Amino acid sequence: MEVLNKIAVDNLRHYLQIPSVHPNVDYDECVELLQTIGKDLSLPVEVIFVKPKKPVVIITWKGQRPELKSILLNSHMDVVPVFEEEWKYKPFSAEIVDGKIYGRGAQDMKSIGIQYLEAIRRLKLEGHTFKRTIYVCFVPDEEIGGEDGMNLFVQTEFFKKMNVGASLDESVATEKKEFRVFYGEKNCWQFTIHCKGPTGHGSLLLERTSGEKVTHLLNKVYEYRNGQKRLMGGDPSNIFGNIASINCTKIRGGVQDNVIPQEIAISFDCRIPSSYNHKEFEDMLSQWCTEAGGDCDIEYHQKDEPVLDTSIDESNIFWNAFRRAAEKSKIQFIHRYVVELQTVDICGRLEFLPLGSHQSTTLQFYCTLTTNI
Ligand SMILES: [Zn+2]
Repeated sequence: MEVLNKIAVDNLRHYLQIPSVHPNVDYDECVELLQTIGKDLSLPVEVIFVKPKKPVVIITWKGQRPELKSILLNSHMDVVPVFEEEWKYKPFSAEIVDGKIYGRGAQDMKSIGIQYLEAIRRLKLEGHTFKRTIYVCFVPDEEIGGEDGMNLFVQTEFFKKMNVGASLDESVATEKKEFRVFYGEKNCWQFTIHCKGPTGHGSLLLERTSGEKVTHLLNKVYEYRNGQKRLMGGDPSNIFGNIASINCTKIRGGVQDNVIPQEIAISFDCRIPSSYNHKEFEDMLSQWCTEAGGDCDIEYHQKDEPVLDTSIDESNIFWNAFRRAAEKSKIQFIHRYVVELQTVDICGRLEFLPLGSHQSTTLQFYCTLTTNI
């Protein structure tokens, strides 16, 4: 076991030492390392360029019944920029201090990519084989939206042939035994309401001014927001829960201090769970605009279509396997919505089971999970 642990730590450190950092990430070294590990595991490694300089690495462990829906273990190779002066240890040195490895990407999410592979190493050594094919994928550019990564990859013939039935991806790191499983993604709506009204001298008390309309709308929005906050049950970490968020992000208008503005524009960022009725939500916004006195036009900048949640009931065989594996490994998990996680979103649109999970303390879980499906 000690030898295996050393291999896992060495591979993780090596991966962390590759500065696959935005902007303009060079993925060559990541691909090289993953090819080496794949070879070491005696598994075929394929590299597909979804665009020049945008490789997706796919390591395949073929199942006994490859016609069955497969399991995808996904992670991204890129990491967000660093501000070196804020770091205690160099961000790409992967130093070990008091048993902890420090490095950009240690949590998000190079550790998970290596955990998949090291779990497979252990399972293979123990002589396991599985019904379903397992694909371990490493995608580029997740941190900048996945447009030139997962989003293009899922449109390839290669991906379609993979016939994925369930996938595991990232969540948020935890130091506790309890970790979060994301099974859905909130939909982002960003919009501006243009509140118009009569203009005139600032000394007049005109009716239905833009300012009055803004006041009405902001009152409504923040009343709604308070209601959602109450549903959080006083737990600020519950932002991941099944509730909507809405915030006023910009206010623009007016020409000078003594003139009532003809228009004030207020912008909002809003994240709505798929379980909410989006039509009702839109109607509620329209209703507020009418109540405000009319002449309040909503201009949508982004309006995501709802994506189906991964079902987390007994009917879902993959979910059952996931739950049983967690129980067996004595890992507690809590179901949560994710605020923004590109891959879950993209996979959700394809209607197979995507789950975000993040287990930074043990490989046992992945081993148990793959044994169970
Ligand atoms: Zn990530």
